[in-house]
Amino acid sequence: MNEEKVCSMVKDLLPLYVDGLTSKKTNDAIESHMEACRSCQDECRLLKADAGTESLTREVPKEVDYLKKVRKYQNANLIMGAVISFFFGMCLPPAMMVLSFINRGIQDYQLARLKVAWHILLLKMFIWGAAACVLYLLCMFVIRMVIKRKRRR
Ligand SMILES: [Zn+2]
Repeated sequence: MNEEKVCSMVKDLLPLYVDGLTSKKTNDAIESHMEACRSCQDECRLLKADAGTESLTREVPKEVDYLKKVRKYQNANLIMGAVISFFFGMCLPPAMMVLSFINRGIQDYQLARLKVAWHILLLKMFIWGAAACVLYLLCMFVIRMVIKRKRRR
């Protein structure tokens, strides 16, 4: 039997095959033909897509679930990034102070001021932390807008 005849026979059988009405022997023959035949593969995929309206409706919630998970993960990342940038910002004022100590040595008046006005340092840390946090969120917001705009195109 030539290949073309086999091909047209397989195509005739494909609707039955997709519905699971063919025997195991026939299935084996169809599958081994499809391994080598692109056009039968495509035909089979089309038939499956047509017949699979039920399975499609089953797959959509799965996809939505997946998107929800991705969004949850993104939000968790966003919060973590905000917290990290807050702590990073908080570290800046003490780091700058330590740097100036290293450069110029610790002056007595600086230590005295630190003892009296430690809450000002704390306030500075908080402000820097908040600023870093806001900056991070702003960057993430801009990045997300750019990605969204690219997707729409
Ligand atoms: Zn074929």
